[in-house]
Amino acid sequence: MFAHRAWHGAIGLAFTDRYGGVSAGVRGELNLGRTDLDAVDAVRENFRRVRTALGLGTIATIAQQHTADVELIDEPWLDGWTDDSPLGSSAGHPRLPVADAMVTALPGVALCIRVADCLPVLLADERTGVIGAAHAGRVGLASGVLPNTVQAMRELGATTVSAWLGPHICGRCYEVPSAMRTEVDRAVPGSAAETRWGTPSVDLGAGARGQLERLGCVVTGAGGCTRTSDALHSHRRDGVDSGRLAGLIWRAVD
Ligand SMILES: [Zn+2]
Repeated sequence: MFAHRAWHGAIGLAFTDRYGGVSAGVRGELNLGRTDLDAVDAVRENFRRVRTALGLGTIATIAQQHTADVELIDEPWLDGWTDDSPLGSSAGHPRLPVADAMVTALPGVALCIRVADCLPVLLADERTGVIGAAHAGRVGLASGVLPNTVQAMRELGATTVSAWLGPHICGRCYEVPSAMRTEVDRAVPGSAAETRWGTPSVDLGAGARGQLERLGCVVTGAGGCTRTSDALHSHRRDGVDSGRLAGLIWRAVD
């Protein structure tokens, strides 16, 4: 169920893999996104299992659309939020807010980012307990979703921010056209790379690490390549129907 799981003081974090859920087919087994394609009851059961395994209460999710927008999860935001809300975009459930990152100072709320090849980044200031989570694919990364997330955390009082980079398609696998590599590297220096077979690529992890370190964050790699690991969902490998893995971060209730 988990590709990585750790505690850092009162901060818990986890990245899921594809096992331990009930989704069928290419999205199997543990799909935590794509309620528009998957059986809603299966996604609901998958969330229930993750919630139980991690001992979580509320799991906050957003409708990720490759923006650089950050959603503040505070008490008013949680009003009306239900355990079914992560199912969001499916029929009969509330619409999720459109954003690609979340921050909160609240304990007991898990911030959940869903990905398949894009880079999930979990962030925390252990001293103040302020946490964040971001969806950093190529577009969001180049648009500044990570600096925006760190800034939003600092507005909540964070000082020393640690960041964990979850499973994503690696720079040796993420082939892009040459012009796109140049464009991304201009926005995110250090992201230009080369595939294993010698063509232009983008290294999301290297780009994110550079960006975050320039902002004074302490960055830790916490995941392998989605494209080459059968244990992880990958859009490039499994196609548009692929499932989604999740990065979750929360602060324990005192
Ligand atoms: Zn790879």
